[in-house]
Amino acid sequence: MKKTRIPADLSSPRSPDRLHYFESRLDFLLETIREFVEIESPSDNKPAADRMSAHLAHKFTELGGRPRVHRAEEYGDNLQIDFPAAANAKPVLLLGHFDTVYPLGTLPTMPCQVENGRLHGPGVLDMKAGIALMFFALEALATWHGKLPRPVTVFLVSDEEVGSYSSRKITEDLARKSAAVLVLEPAAGLGGAVKTARKGVGEYALTVNGIAAHAGLDPGKGHSAIVELARQIEVLSKLNDSKQGISVNPGVIRGGTRTNVIAAEAVAEIDVRIKRAKQARGLDRKLRALRPFDKRCKLSIDGGINRLPMERNGGVIALYQKAQLIARQIGWKLEEAAVGGGSDGNFTAGIGIPTLDGLGGVGNGAHAIHEHILIRELPRRAVLLAGLIESA
Ligand SMILES: [Zn+2]
Repeated sequence: MKKTRIPADLSSPRSPDRLHYFESRLDFLLETIREFVEIESPSDNKPAADRMSAHLAHKFTELGGRPRVHRAEEYGDNLQIDFPAAANAKPVLLLGHFDTVYPLGTLPTMPCQVENGRLHGPGVLDMKAGIALMFFALEALATWHGKLPRPVTVFLVSDEEVGSYSSRKITEDLARKSAAVLVLEPAAGLGGAVKTARKGVGEYALTVNGIAAHAGLDPGKGHSAIVELARQIEVLSKLNDSKQGISVNPGVIRGGTRTNVIAAEAVAEIDVRIKRAKQARGLDRKLRALRPFDKRCKLSIDGGINRLPMERNGGVIALYQKAQLIARQIGWKLEEAAVGGGSDGNFTAGIGIPTLDGLGGVGNGAHAIHEHILIRELPRRAVLLAGLIESA
C-alpha cells in the first residue's frame, strides 16, 4: 500500500507547523462552513433539517466515517458517524447540533458573506463552524498520521435548540462508551475561552384556575386567576438567588379573555437556571409547594429541569489542562469560562463523562441578525481540536 509522506513533525502533537497547515487550508474551511450555512436547517422544519443531516452524512462518509442515521419523527434525523481506528482505545465523542433557531427563508435577509474578517450568516457561530472544524480536524489527523490515531464518534443532533428531546438518550448512550466528550458549541467571548461550566436549565408552567364572573354585575362572585398569578409572581421572584447561581424568570404570562370578565385562567411560563445539580430538587420542591393566596383559586405546576448543570469537576479540569497545553505550544493562553446557557454538554457531564465545551467558532451574535464568526480564529481552533482528539 502506498503511504503518503508527511513531514514527521506534523504527526507530532507538539508541532507549531500544524497552525500553518490549517492556515493553508483556511479557504477550504471557509467554503465548507458556507456550504453548511447555506443549507438552512431550523429545528422545527423536518424536511429542511433532514436535508442538512443527509448532506453531513455524505460529507463525513467521504472522510471514511460510517454513518448511522437515527430517525426522528418530529425533528430532523440525528446523525452518528463512527470512525473506527486500529488503536484499541475508547473513542472520543465529538458532539454538535446542526439545527438553528432561524426559520426557513432567513438567508435572503441574512446572507452568508464575508465582511471585515468575519463570516456572517444564520447559524454560522451556533454552530455550523463547529461542525466544519470537526471535519477539518479529522481530515488533518488522518493525513498527518496516515490514519486516525484513535476511534472517534461524531454525533450531530437535530433538536438541540428546542431541548434535545429526540436526541438526548442517544447522546448519553454514546457518551457512556466514550473516553471524553468534546462539544463544538461556540467559544465564550471574543477571546475564545472554552466552557468548563454551564448552568442547568429548566422550564416550568404555573397555571392558575380561578372562577369567572361578570366584572360589572357580579364582581364578588369571581376569583381572578390574574390577580392570583400576579401574587404568585412576587413569590417566584423571591426564589432568585444570585449568590447561589439560581435564577427564576417568569418570562411569559398570559391569561383572561376580556376586560369585563374576571379571569378564569392565567399561566406563567418560567425559565429556571441552577449552578449545581443538587439545587435541582430543592427548587423543584419549592415550585411544587406553591399555595394559592385566594383559596378558591387552584394552582398547578408542570415541567422540570431539562439539563442538569455542567459542573467544573475533575474530569472537566483535566480536559481543560490538556487543552491549555496544546494551546501553549502555539503561543496561545487559552482561558476558560462558566456560562449561564445550557447545551448537550450538560447531559454528558451530568452522567459523569469528562466534557469540554465551547471548542467551536469564536464570534458574536448567536441567534441574532448579526451572528458571525472571526475567520482568523479558525486555524488555532482546529489545532486545538485535533490535539484534543489525540490526547483526550
Ligand atoms: Zn448551539
